[in-house]
Amino acid sequence: MNLFRPLETHDHNSEPATRQELKPSEHVKCLIIGSGPAGYTAAIYAARANLKPLLFKGLQPGGQLTTTTDVENFPGYPMGITGPKLMDDLDQQAARFGADIRWGIATAADFSAVPYKVVIDGNTLIEADTVIIATGATAKYLGIEAEDKFKGSGVSACATCDGFFYRGKDVAVVGGGDTACEEALYLSGMCRKVYMIVRKNFLRASKIMQQRVMNAPNIEILYEHNTKDLRGNEGVEEVVLIKRQGEADESEEVIKIDGFFLAIGHAPNSEIFRPFLETDETGYLKTIPGTPRTYIPGVFACGDVQDKVYRQAVTAAGSGCQAAMEAERYLSHLATVGP
Ligand code: NDP
Repeated sequence: MNLFRPLETHDHNSEPATRQELKPSEHVKCLIIGSGPAGYTAAIYAARANLKPLLFKGLQPGGQLTTTTDVENFPGYPMGITGPKLMDDLDQQAARFGADIRWGIATAADFSAVPYKVVIDGNTLIEADTVIIATGATAKYLGIEAEDKFKGSGVSACATCDGFFYRGKDVAVVGGGDTACEEALYLSGMCRKVYMIVRKNFLRASKIMQQRVMNAPNIEILYEHNTKDLRGNEGVEEVVLIKRQGEADESEEVIKIDGFFLAIGHAPNSEIFRPFLETDETGYLKTIPGTPRTYIPGVFACGDVQDKVYRQAVTAAGSGCQAAMEAERYLSHLATVGP
């Protein structure tokens, strides 16, 4: 078994040079990969069900919420809570019930036989009876320097999370897909003016979403515009745009805004699982509808790695709970009837 390359691209001729056999360092009942709301909630439920879960925090410990400031829509916090604090609380809550929480990134997986195998940091092989995948998704950014500078102080990739802070203000949303339209519509309900910055001369979004955007009196679509820069002192104050970039009539425009929202897509962190699990055309893991069960018994997916529609901390947490309950049922069933 070559744990470091997808099975479809496995090249037997070069196998001796690339093959790296690892001995399992431990065997667990329940392995959880990822430490966003889905992973931690799965850990809380799995620990309380006595599955002794082992959780690896992954590439972005605490998940996407650690990149936001205040979270005001997670139930139970009437005054809001910061993203990092919420994740820290979830970590402590899972640890309190005995979840074994460790630093480490899953770098390869093999679900071709039981026990399932997952490699951590390229050098540690864990065997598991059940695996809960909660690796989340990563919002795409444009890659301009100013995005990093203003992240959390004017730049956001989640209108539902941060839109509230821009009530009565002017904002811009980048993108022309369904997410961008949804974000723009959401923001149009609370902001004074919403600009949509669309690089093509049309929206990619579904017709119904396009119609809704066009019917909103305070949304202005800037077609054929690309973002060059963001300027400001404490926070974003203006966006520098290039109109008809690369064309003879290319021109620069500066627009005053207070918030800049990215909606150019998310990339689900599903790559290492793709040789074994079905994904949709954009890489989201497919689960049996209405459940966190993948098509491999004992392997579950929860949170944003399998949800491109809702993508909320609370929905991720809910699906993490479901995954742990399913893992518990699966293991009980095995114990009763055998594999
Ligand atoms: P999409 O890939 O559909 O759209 C991304 C948008 O961002 C496109 O307009 C694209 O432009 C633009 N974009 C990408 N990169 C850049 C860049 N570097 N600079 C400027 N613009 C850029 O992503 P979505 O997140 O909108 O949707 C993903 C999937 O999820 C879709 O299938 C969508 O239908 C679905 N979805 C469904 C929802 C629902 O059913 N309620 C809600 C939200 C999403 P261009 O067109 O030029 O490539």
